[in-house]
Amino acid sequence: MPRVRVKLVSWDEIVEWTMGLSKIIEESGWKPDVIVAVARGGYVPARLLCDFLDVTDLISVQSQHWVEAAIVAEKAILRYPYKVDMSDKRVLLVDDIVDTGESLILAREFITREWKPLELKIAALQWISPVAKMKPDYYLIDVKEWIWFQYPWTRLEDISQFITRIFREDERAREEITEDKLKELFIEWYGIHPSELSHYWKLALEKLQKKGTLKKTDKGFKLEKK
Ligand code: ADP
Repeated sequence: MPRVRVKLVSWDEIVEWTMGLSKIIEESGWKPDVIVAVARGGYVPARLLCDFLDVTDLISVQSQHWVEAAIVAEKAILRYPYKVDMSDKRVLLVDDIVDTGESLILAREFITREWKPLELKIAALQWISPVAKMKPDYYLIDVKEWIWFQYPWTRLEDISQFITRIFREDERAREEITEDKLKELFIEWYGIHPSELSHYWKLALEKLQKKGTLKKTDKGFKLEKK
């Protein structure tokens, strides 16, 4: 068992899942006038839902909760709280996943209070039912056991954070380690083989060196910033 349970999600799966979600919404007989994406995770599903449900109006709110991949922050915050009048609109609020549900609860509270929509419903591709504090009106997948879904739109960010975490938390990466050793630890931690990540593995290592997090040594890599 890896230390952190991760599933690599492909672009094809995202299209397939969002199409499945759009069918559920359509079959309910309800149609939104406006789709609101919860930034940043809701962007791609929201854009695809516009396509599948034939919706033109797409806007967004930013509700932030997760600071790093697979590490949750204390409190969700709503950024750029602008106001619009939605009193004659049916609004569909869209996110990728309902995990704790904190960011969606915050976004729902804000929109209900400040935008006063005619109706507000929530859709997400996935819902982690044992931990979520709210249930979306529409969802495709009921996730029964917590897992980090590595979505294709955060691949570079997540892989970079995954690597950094090994250097920060694994005793065996205290001193410099070879790239092969790093790959071995990565598989042990996340259950993903770097070869599944194609160019993202190399890009992440380059990005971490540029940021000054990692330093290239004769042997391989070492952590620069503690
Ligand atoms: P929500 O209010 O949608 O449940 P959370 O506050 O739990 O969201 O998380 C906010 C965002 O963090 C999610 O929209 C998603 O982009 C990301 N996220 C949270 N949990 C996971 C997870 N288990 N796998 C992948 N991404 C996640």
